[in-house]
Amino acid sequence: MSIMVPSKTPALITPGRQALDSALHQLGQAAEHLGLDDGLRTMLATPRRSLTVSVPVRREDGRLDVVQGFRVQHNVSRGPAKGGLRFHPSTDLHEVTALAMWMTWKCALAGIPYGGAKGGVAVDPAGLTTRELERVTRRYVSEILPLIGPEKDIPAPDVGTDEQTMAWIMDTYSVSAGYSVPGVVTGKPITLGGSLGRAGATSRGVQIAALSALGRSPEGVTVAVQGFGKVGALAAQYLADAGCKVVAVSDLTGAVYCAGGLDVSRLRTWAAETGGVRGYRHADALSHGDLFELDVDVLIPAALEGAITEANAPRIRARLIVEGANGPTTPEADEILAANGTVVVPDILANAGGVIVSYLEWVQNMQAYSWSSGEVEAKLHDLIENAFSEVKSLAAARGLTLRQAAHVIGVGRVAEAHQMRGLYP
Ligand code: NAD
Repeated sequence: MSIMVPSKTPALITPGRQALDSALHQLGQAAEHLGLDDGLRTMLATPRRSLTVSVPVRREDGRLDVVQGFRVQHNVSRGPAKGGLRFHPSTDLHEVTALAMWMTWKCALAGIPYGGAKGGVAVDPAGLTTRELERVTRRYVSEILPLIGPEKDIPAPDVGTDEQTMAWIMDTYSVSAGYSVPGVVTGKPITLGGSLGRAGATSRGVQIAALSALGRSPEGVTVAVQGFGKVGALAAQYLADAGCKVVAVSDLTGAVYCAGGLDVSRLRTWAAETGGVRGYRHADALSHGDLFELDVDVLIPAALEGAITEANAPRIRARLIVEGANGPTTPEADEILAANGTVVVPDILANAGGVIVSYLEWVQNMQAYSWSSGEVEAKLHDLIENAFSEVKSLAAARGLTLRQAAHVIGVGRVAEAHQMRGLYP
C-alpha cells in the first residue's frame, strides 16, 4: 500500500507525525481485519483534500506576523466533511490529517452522515489579544472559504478555540455569502443558532461511556483527569455529579490531588479565575507524570495526543481508560495496556458526544428549528449507547480490543460507502 505522506526520518518525527503514524497503524489493523484490497486501503489512508494557507496577522503594535493554517478533508464518501478547528503553536499538517482521519471513523461509528475533517492554525491563543485572535480567525476563514459550507465542510471548536471563534467564523462566512448561514459551523453561541446541550456534549459522552464501561454503581469510583479544558473539566464535573470521586486533575499550569475527592465545581471556578488549576488551596500539588500512575479506577486523558506511551503505560494502575482526547494513546502503549488487562474506551467512541450534538445542531440549523435540551440529550444518549453496544458486541465476538472493534466498524462503513458509490470516472 502506498501512502502519500512525507518520508519518516528521525529528525522529523514530530508529535503530529506520531499521531498520523498511530492513525495509519489503526487503519491498517482494521483494513487487515476487514480484508480490504490495497487500492481501497490507500484511498482510506489518503486525505481527499489538504489545504495549507498562510495567515497574515496584524499585531496590536503594528507588526505583521504570518502563521500557517491547515484544513484537511479526509473523507467525504458518507456526507459533508466535519471536524474541529485547533489553535495550537505546534499543530502541523500531519497532526491535522490524523485528527481528520479519526473524525471520519468517529462519524461512521456514531452513524451520523458526515465525513471527517480537521483544521488547525499554528498559533498560541494565550499569546494573542482578543482582537488579534479575531483577526487570525477571520483571515484563516477567508483563506479556506472555498472549502467550507453547510453542505461541504463544517468546522467546530477544538483545542484553543471556543464558541466565540465559531461566531467569528459564522459571521465571516455569512458576510461573504450575503446572508446568515448558521449551518456553516457548530458549537456556536445559542443566540446564533447553537444547540442546547452542545457545550457539554463531548464531556457528557465521556461520562456516558465511562459509566457504561464501568458496569457498576459510580458511587465512590475514583477518577483522574488529564486536561482541565472544555472536555476534561466538564467530564470531571459530570462524573462527580454522578457520584464518582475525582481525586486528581491537571492542566498546562500543573496538577492537583485530593484523596477525599476534589470539589470540581469549586476547582472550575478557581481555574476560570486564575487561568489554571495550579495553586488551588484545597488540594495538594502533584507532578504531571504522577497523575498517570495514581491508583484510581478510571483515568481520563483529555488533553492532547501521545499522552500515554510505552514509557508510562507499564506504570498505569487504572483498570479503565476513557479517552476524552483524540489520539492520547500510542499503539505501543495500547499493546502494553491490553496485555495488562486495562480496558481502553477509544477516542472515536468516548469523545463522539461532541460531533453527535454538532450533527444535531446542524440538523436544527438546516431546518431553522430547535429542540429542547431534553430532546438533544436523549438523542445523544441513544447514539452513543448504540455505538458502544455495537463495539462491545463486536469486540467480544471477534476477540478484539474496544479500539480495534470501533475501527473495524467505522472503517468498514466508510469502505462500504466507497464500494457502493464506485469510482468516478
Ligand atoms: P481545551 O483547549 O479546551 O483544553 C485542553 C486542556 O488540556 C487545557 O486545560 C490544557 O491546559 C490542557 N493540557 C494541554 N497539554 C497538557 C499536558 N501536557 N498536561 C496536562 N494538561 C494539558 O481543549 P478541549 O476542547 O478540551 O480538547 C481536549 C481534547 O479533546 C483534544 O484532544 C480534542 O481534540 C478532544 N476533543 C475535543 C472536543 C470538543 O468538543 N472540544 C470533541 C472531541 C474531542
